[in-house]
Formats: sequence, C-alpha cells, structure tokens
Amino acid sequence: MSNRQVTPRTEGWTQKKDESGKPLLQFAEPKRGKPPQHLVDIDPADRAETIKGLGIPGFRAKQLATHYFTHYTSDPADMTDLPKEGREELVQKALPTLLTEVKRLKTDDGKTIKFLWRLFDGALVESVLMRYSNRITLCISSQAGCGMNCPFCATGQAGLTRNMSAGEIVDQIVRANKVIAEGGLGKARHDDERVNNIVFMGMGEPLANYNKLMSAIRTMVEPQPNGLGMSARNITVSTVGLVPGIKKLADEDLPLTFALSLHAPDDKLRDDLIPVNDKWKVDEALDAAKAYYDKTGRRVSIEYALIRDINDQSWRSDLLGRLLKNRNAHVNLIPLNPTPGSKWTASRREDEAEFVRILEGYGVPVTVRDTRGREIDGACGQLAASEKEKI
Ligand code: SAH
Repeated sequence: MSNRQVTPRTEGWTQKKDESGKPLLQFAEPKRGKPPQHLVDIDPADRAETIKGLGIPGFRAKQLATHYFTHYTSDPADMTDLPKEGREELVQKALPTLLTEVKRLKTDDGKTIKFLWRLFDGALVESVLMRYSNRITLCISSQAGCGMNCPFCATGQAGLTRNMSAGEIVDQIVRANKVIAEGGLGKARHDDERVNNIVFMGMGEPLANYNKLMSAIRTMVEPQPNGLGMSARNITVSTVGLVPGIKKLADEDLPLTFALSLHAPDDKLRDDLIPVNDKWKVDEALDAAKAYYDKTGRRVSIEYALIRDINDQSWRSDLLGRLLKNRNAHVNLIPLNPTPGSKWTASRREDEAEFVRILEGYGVPVTVRDTRGREIDGACGQLAASEKEKI
C-alpha cells in the first residue's frame, strides 16, 4: 500500500471495504420490493395492449399519456375526458404516485431548487432544478444511493439502496415541469416553459442501472403525447467509467451527450479517487470515450473535480493534456464541493488557472463548472438525501 498517495481521512464516515481490503463496489442492488408499474415503464408501442390487460380500454392509453406528458398531471380531477365512474382507480393503475415531495430548498434568488423525494418504499432521492438564461436544466438521480464508493462524493457514503424504475426517473422531470408551469421558478419567460436539459448527475451511477436508464431515456425523447419530446443532445449521461456500459451506450444510435468522470490522468491516483478504476483503467475508460465519439460524432466531456493538492498539480494537467490531445474531448473542471466529514477542498484559484492554461496549451477545450446549489448541498457530489438538511 506504500504507493498510495491519497488516503481519504474522513472524520464523519468510514469507507466500506470488501474482503480483500479494497473499497467495496456494489453493482447488484439489494433485494427490495419493486415500485408500482407506471405508464412510463411500458414501451410506448405496447401501452395500449398492456393497459387492456389491466381492464382499461386501449385507447385510454393515449389520453392518459397526454395528461401526464403534456399537462404534467396525474390528478384524476384534471381528467374530465375520462368517465367519472372508475376514473380514480383507472388513473391509480396507470399513473400511480411514484414521488412524494418531502422538502424543497431554494437558492440563487429562486433560480435553483433542490427537491427531496420519497419513493414508495421510503427510499429518498434528490433532483436539482436550475434556470439559466438560455435553458432550464434538471439534474436527476438514477439510483437511490450509489454503489461506486468514490470517497469525495456524499452519495457514495451510504452505499446503494436500489435502482430507480424508469417511471421514477422520468417522474422527476414531469414533477419539475409541473412546478415550472405553476410559477415555481418565477414568472415564465414564454409559454410552455419547461425543462429542456437533463444531466444524469444526481444520485447514482446511471450505467449500473442500464436497462431502466435506457427505458427512461426512450420516453424522454419520444414525441409528445407519448413521451416528453426532448432532444437526445440535451441529455447528458455521466459515468464513473463502466466500460461495457459505455460501449452499449455508443451502440444505441442516439445522439446523447456523454460525460466521463475521470478526476485523475494516472491510475495510481485514480485507483483511490474512483474505486471502479480497479476494473477499468484510465486508458480503457478514455478509449471507450473515444469510441463513443467515433460512433456517435458527439464530442465527449471529461469531468475533473479539482481537489486541492490531490489532483491539481501542473504535471497532472500536462499528462491530461497529452492524453486528450486530438481526442475530440472537452474538459469540464468542477471545483470540489464540500461533503460531510471530508478534509478535501477545492483548489486554489492560481492552481486552477494554471491547470486550465496547461490544458489549453494542448488545444483541449476547457470549461469550469459553476457551483450552483452549493449553499443548499445541491451541487455535484453533495446529494445525500437526508431529511435533516439545512432549511
Ligand atoms: N455516477 C455518475 C454521476 C455522478 S455525479 C458519475 O460519477 O459520473 C456527477 C459528477 O459530480 C461526477 O463527475 C462526480 O464525480 C462529480 N462529483 C462527485 N462528488 C463531487 C464533489 N464533492 N465535488 C465536485 N464534483 C463531484
């Protein structure tokens, strides 16, 4: 262990280890009950047939979908085109309640909202809504908790509770759209203002819940009324680097935006920062990202959280620049956001500036991510879904 450069000296928590003493990785979800089946969980082409099996006439599928995906409602009282008799049961069967709002925290003059949701079995997840001048972004969760155990991320500290269903993933967007329509982000700038940018950067490792992720994405891009009619380009899937999943994603034939959480250009450090590096090394992850570009033509994003004196040295920027040169990648630097119990902190301004300068010297495009939501623990890596948070 002498070559380890970093030892996360956490005060408030202890990183879970497997039998061999390595950080524990949880790919399989613990056994729990399944969330109720929702219209979103059924492939759009099969919905009419499936709801017939529930004793509901097939043509009602489109009416229900219109209410849900166009008017963002699951409330039977809004659905006057459905027969009054039996309406409640019918809606309950097709559009069961998936997310119960537990808490809403606001910051940035109301332009950023963090939602805490309770799932049917009591599991808690969060999503963060952010209004920008040219877009509305929702950062969504794909799992309750996360099994990837990255020591600088709050979500990993409690491990994986379970995968979210496609319905639970999509409902975060529908609920946010409802909040926007009701004026929750302030006065609308135009009619039909809604979430138009999705980042899978909330809780969870999306590629560890691959099938549900793809089912949710298919509904997001399906035109209204059977889906949300969103653009695949405006959906970003961010991963710790599950290489087989990245390959599958490249084969989906969808122009999704792809982001790889690299955080270190060398295996020695990445082994500590991203425990899954034990399975897929830096070069394998970068090759998979390059293959994603080659297949889809979409420029990939390399995420790099700048951590003071840990991964922000100029030689690491130089190495990163050399690795990424001519690779059609873009680097997104994220100033480290504080997490409970960690002594790590964001880089000094001058180190960050030097890191950027060196990368740009290699012709690699660089942006520094804003720290939206930090005051409400809603920024990257801070989502831990506790009911006892700051109000
Ligand atoms: N599991 C996915 C999505 C997670 S969050 C992934 O790892 O990519 C999205 C980004 O926030 C990831 O790049 C993640 O590494 C980063 N992140 C996690 N903790 C952070 C922290 N404390 N400060 C800044 N970024 C963090």
